[in-house]
Amino acid sequence: MPHATPLISTLVGGFVLAFILGAIAHRFRLPPLVGYLVAGILVGPYTPGFVADQNLAPELAEIGVILLMFGVGLHFSLKDLLSVRVIAVPGAIVQIGFATLLGWGMGYLMGWPTGGSLVFGLALSVASTVVLLKALQERRMVETAKGRIAVGWLIVEDLAMVLALVLIPAVASVGSGERLSDPLAVALVEMSGMDIGIGGLIGLTLLKVALFVAVMLVFGRKVIPAILHRIAHTGSRELFRLGVLAIALGVAFGASQLFGVSLALGAFFAGMVLSESELSHSAARESLPLRDAFSVLFFVSVGMLFDPTILLREPLAILATVFIIVIGKSAAAFLIVVLFRKGISTALTISASLAQIGEFSFILAELGVGLKLLPEEGRDFILAGAIISIVLNPLMFYLTERLRPRFEDVAARRAARKTPQTETAAPAEPVEQATEEEDTRAPVQHDGHCVLVGYGRVGRIVAANLKTAKIPFVVIEESDTLVSDLHAEGIDAIAGHAASAGLLSLANIARARSLVVAIPDAFEAGYIVESAKKMNGRLLVIARAHSDAEVEHLTNLGADTVIMGEREVANGMLKRLDQILHSEMAEPGPVV
Ligand code: AMP
Repeated sequence: MPHATPLISTLVGGFVLAFILGAIAHRFRLPPLVGYLVAGILVGPYTPGFVADQNLAPELAEIGVILLMFGVGLHFSLKDLLSVRVIAVPGAIVQIGFATLLGWGMGYLMGWPTGGSLVFGLALSVASTVVLLKALQERRMVETAKGRIAVGWLIVEDLAMVLALVLIPAVASVGSGERLSDPLAVALVEMSGMDIGIGGLIGLTLLKVALFVAVMLVFGRKVIPAILHRIAHTGSRELFRLGVLAIALGVAFGASQLFGVSLALGAFFAGMVLSESELSHSAARESLPLRDAFSVLFFVSVGMLFDPTILLREPLAILATVFIIVIGKSAAAFLIVVLFRKGISTALTISASLAQIGEFSFILAELGVGLKLLPEEGRDFILAGAIISIVLNPLMFYLTERLRPRFEDVAARRAARKTPQTETAAPAEPVEQATEEEDTRAPVQHDGHCVLVGYGRVGRIVAANLKTAKIPFVVIEESDTLVSDLHAEGIDAIAGHAASAGLLSLANIARARSLVVAIPDAFEAGYIVESAKKMNGRLLVIARAHSDAEVEHLTNLGADTVIMGEREVANGMLKRLDQILHSEMAEPGPVV
């Protein structure tokens, strides 16, 4: 079906169908991404009817990847990145090695050439940025300790892929006697008159990545926040929004063109150099709607590549591929994290988040087929494996959550067995969870205390006053950093999303006297109020709202008092005006 406007028809077809099928999936309690993938299959070439542009769709999806990684960078400081390197670097390398080995084994059994089998294995070893970040965001884990490890792991995988994409054509060209494809390498070879070889090429690629990181940390760190501050001073929200978008897309594109790093990595660094600026929150807010829209297109574009008949033609090979991605990779990641003593819960989260493949795998598969290393059926298996593993991913998170207590039991029993029976002896092996805050949390022992949800601009004022009034209280806050600050001050605090299961119980809500919900989102607040009231009917609940409708919503769900922020601001202003006018009347003269 010819289209005069392929860009528009691809965007419209993608958005409209993704919306309809995402809503249907939601209705049936399935994750919306299943709907997006089906939308992709429907607008793809393997189903009758409208076919979206197959080249444009993945390019549009890249915008989603850029904005997602930019958003993650905004919440990530260099310190965060360096703090997870000890586990992320060896973890990602060992896992890539293991998955590649499994993939190579499968290729060997299929009778593929060694090069093709290795590309196949490599393609199965890298997780999709979009799937991983969406999963973490949905579970509000990006800013938790587990989330940081997962993101660090992703960055290492990303770097490994940058290297692989440069090396595979080079290795293939050495094998086939063709010339190098990297323009800088070609220029070097011509200038020096000698061949730089594979070792030289690896060195060159690493040099370019290092140069990019250095440029970002030295210049970018000064220039990018300064630009954004300037724009913020114009007072134009539109210009600010545009500035954020220009920085995210511009740096990502520039980095990929000049330094050969991936768009995702470029965007991550653009976000990271902004993370220390106080404007980072506004930048994150402004890029959110576009990010969500374009990451939906990622799933649509993946769905478009899928030929459903392969499931009937090659069921066993696909089962093996999915097994490698979902079970093989997860098992490797789980063992590595446990070996690093990061706790069962972290190990399960990391395994679940990496048990899928996506965009990098497609690029590797295309490259392998293009270089005649990988047979076409290998690419089809990768595509099918990607779709199935993406659909199974929410299930993996669900299963790991269900399996967690059992794994923890086993770990605790093992630790107990290794502990000598004498009272004074230290445990031979620290209980694994000890490194992880979330797992060591025991219910708060207070009685008749106040539970404060949120420690932002509002919550910290409430906390300071409770402290002065010597009222015992415990804070639930989702930002790990804020919780560490609270612990440092000796205040009881629990990290996590107050609406998630078990958190209110940890705060001993059943014995609490009052609950102060100081978070800005009234829907989340409503859920928290409702759950808390169910657990303790005598609880005094005070909540925060921004409109009359929100006041009504929260009151209906059981809040005793709802404070509307805007009304209090107006009251505060009037009170101040009143004071000024009165003092003017008392002593006439200019008010400073
Ligand atoms: P502010 O709007 O400045 O008062 O900040 C609100 C604070 O509440 C921030 O520190 C958020 O991290 C925190 N917060 C928002 N939603 C939740 C939630 N559901 N559970 C726990 N903390 C939350």
